[in-house]
Amino acid sequence: MQALHLETPVHQSAAINARLNKNIYFKMDCYQPVGSFKIRGIGALCQKAVAEGKTRLISSSGGNAGYAAAYSGNQLGVHVTVVVPETTTETAIQRMKEQNAEVIVYGKVWNEADAHARELVAEHNAAYIHPFDNPAIWTGHASMIDETVHQMGKPDAVVVAVGGGGLMAGVLEGLHENDWQDIPVIAVETEGAASFAASHQARELVKISEITSIAKTLGALEVTSVLVDWLDKHPIESVIVSDKEAVTACLNFADDFRVIVEPACGAALSLIYDNAHTLENYSSVLMIVCGGAGVTIQQLLEWQETL
Ligand SMILES: *Cc1c(COP(=O)(O)O)cnc(C)c1O
Repeated sequence: MQALHLETPVHQSAAINARLNKNIYFKMDCYQPVGSFKIRGIGALCQKAVAEGKTRLISSSGGNAGYAAAYSGNQLGVHVTVVVPETTTETAIQRMKEQNAEVIVYGKVWNEADAHARELVAEHNAAYIHPFDNPAIWTGHASMIDETVHQMGKPDAVVVAVGGGGLMAGVLEGLHENDWQDIPVIAVETEGAASFAASHQARELVKISEITSIAKTLGALEVTSVLVDWLDKHPIESVIVSDKEAVTACLNFADDFRVIVEPACGAALSLIYDNAHTLENYSSVLMIVCGGAGVTIQQLLEWQETL
């Protein structure tokens, strides 16, 4: 079966390498259809559901995962419903509708939308498309490392943003499958969305009480429990950055590469801008440019003013 994602390039910037005196490699998953890596795992899960005979897919994400589910269902020719909370922007809803998805606005927060989505799944014998917590999603995301091992030499560290942890679970799976299992992974979150940092410190699953970061895409109250299992099997560092540093990184990255990404991605990218001290032990670093469609230049500039 043909995958729904594309192979993305690994780019370098001579200016950034000279400034940091390191080799920084950028895996440009911002260039995927739907603008983020999400299509890898969500696309794989949707294909699996359709191969198993499902004709209806139901997602509960108002962000990049819902958009990826809408795109995947449209490509596969099946009906997609996305249940989103009231906080979801009109632009995001519009993007999903352009992919022929039915969008239902339900509840004040994601948990309420998600509960309604699960009811609909049972009612319609549909496939439930979780945004990050499913092994098929992790294997789909792992494909980015399968590509990377053919695109560059082995780096000293991999930098990845963490929301619910599907991306990082996929990256870890990919590293282990490709004999890169000794490369440390640096997990980056913003203040006010640092649920992995809390679990990393406690070495068990910790649920944080609220999300206050602007990086809503990183705003899972708790990460998938598989990340706690990985703590015993892989060297993992946890870094927390500020919203302001994440937004500054988005704007710097736009200047360097002429592409717009969400603060969720900017959080990881800030390790080569304001937070470069975090990489002092490494001379070659792979940055996962996870992307994100839910932002505009105008919004980034407003955040830069107000934060
Ligand atoms: C979903 C997403 C993340 C976080 O991924 P998780 O699998 O939830 O950890 C980071 N950045 C972007 C742009 C995303 O869409």
